[in-house]
Amino acid sequence: MAEYYLTTAIDYANGDPHLGHAFEKIGADVIARYHRMLGERVWFLIGMDEHGQKVAQTAADRGLAPQVLVDEVAEIFQAMWRRLGISNDQFIRTTAPAHKQGVQALIERIFEKSPGDFYEKSYEGYYCVGCESFKQDNEIIDGRCVLHPTRVLEWVEERNWFFRLSRYRDFLRAHFEAHPDFLQPASRRNEILSLLEQGLDDVSASRARLAWGVPFPRPTSDGEVQTTYVWFDALPNYLTATGFPGVEPRQHWPAQLHVIGKDITRFHSVIWPAMLKAAELELPERIWAHGFVNLGGERFSKSAGVKLELSEAIDKFGPDAFRYFLLREIPFDTDGNFSWERFEERYTSDLANGYGNLASRAIAMIEKYREGVVPRLERNDSYAEDLRDIADYVDAMNDHLLHRGLEAVFHNVDNANEYVTMQAPWKLAREAGSAAALDETLATLARKLAIETVLLAPFMPAKAQAVWEQLGGPGAVADQRIAALERLDPSGWRVTKGAPLFPREAPAAA
Ligand SMILES: [Zn+2]
Repeated sequence: MAEYYLTTAIDYANGDPHLGHAFEKIGADVIARYHRMLGERVWFLIGMDEHGQKVAQTAADRGLAPQVLVDEVAEIFQAMWRRLGISNDQFIRTTAPAHKQGVQALIERIFEKSPGDFYEKSYEGYYCVGCESFKQDNEIIDGRCVLHPTRVLEWVEERNWFFRLSRYRDFLRAHFEAHPDFLQPASRRNEILSLLEQGLDDVSASRARLAWGVPFPRPTSDGEVQTTYVWFDALPNYLTATGFPGVEPRQHWPAQLHVIGKDITRFHSVIWPAMLKAAELELPERIWAHGFVNLGGERFSKSAGVKLELSEAIDKFGPDAFRYFLLREIPFDTDGNFSWERFEERYTSDLANGYGNLASRAIAMIEKYREGVVPRLERNDSYAEDLRDIADYVDAMNDHLLHRGLEAVFHNVDNANEYVTMQAPWKLAREAGSAAALDETLATLARKLAIETVLLAPFMPAKAQAVWEQLGGPGAVADQRIAALERLDPSGWRVTKGAPLFPREAPAAA
């Protein structure tokens, strides 16, 4: 069985989960659920990045030991992901002993396999604590980091371990050339290609004077034990999660997909592959960099002071509607905007009046006219259209264009609602000689609804399961296979009306 190991960025343990975190986790969760429904053996990793200066500062400001802070934050994040139905198989925390040992083992392996790739150097420059990296002149505006305008840059002078990233430019260019899908979407790939064109600077691999982190396994020549630079600690989580350096029964490496935000593509598609190459380990197959969720044109983030209470947005219509809205409204390959107005519009038009209304009408009519049993289905004209919608969905989902996947499903939903109006089953039911036409209409609706429900299951797992049960479909909707959809035949299924799926009034918090 094909293995599909996917990861998200690990979240920095320095505040509450926000909309940007949720967008990424929900998107990756949809990809994970979709691949399970392709019949693949999926391993889905998420987690927390718990070291670094920002965490140490926040803990100090609150009078807490850093470990106490990160334990608290990890619990808050995990509770949020449970509430949003995130189906991760593993939750890694970089303060776990196994991870710390794995990071040190990876660094030692680079020392062994690529002697000279780590070297000592004195360095000075402006350091952004927000990015946890030194900034070049073109990344600084008015003395501030362009990504963290509320933070003051620090002038840092120290002697560190450096990683010879510059040596990997030609390797990386060749890898990008040979693997056009390595970093997507194309806009992100082009950015990194032009970065590679300009050449690469070596990067710091350790920090002096920072206690909250993984000790760098080899002291500097003056005997100082430094702390592993936070990116050299964070990026290997994808590898240490698989049991590295030990050989565990669950040895997933390499990852099939890293889902990350567009602000950290350089770390994931340049530094991380170079580290792996230096250690003579396989590279991840693909990296997908999604865009940002904006509110009134501004990026959501704690540091920029733009905030929306995540729990308030979930309370509004429940977790599934929230998942649906984010991934329908905000393209997964670029930036998008969150607005309450659009959320309400989409909830009403797409979910309540679109899919929800189709489900309740179809099920009510099958109960009323056919005693709750879906009639036998003969192929009819709408079947080719369903197959096209399924194919469009699969193409979009394989390309991680989740918004397009939903477009394909709702193309089918809209057509099904038009079909009801056109066929007018309530008229057929009153006409003599229309029994066969009514059978065909009801069976067609049941089949469309079943197909849509399977395709929506990765996006709205709880709602899709509820509709599947009302339809009388076999087993759990999540256990259905996308490849089996073209043979799907709901004849004989026994339907039962349930509670309204998408009530016009906000439901109680789920
Ligand atoms: Zn910054």
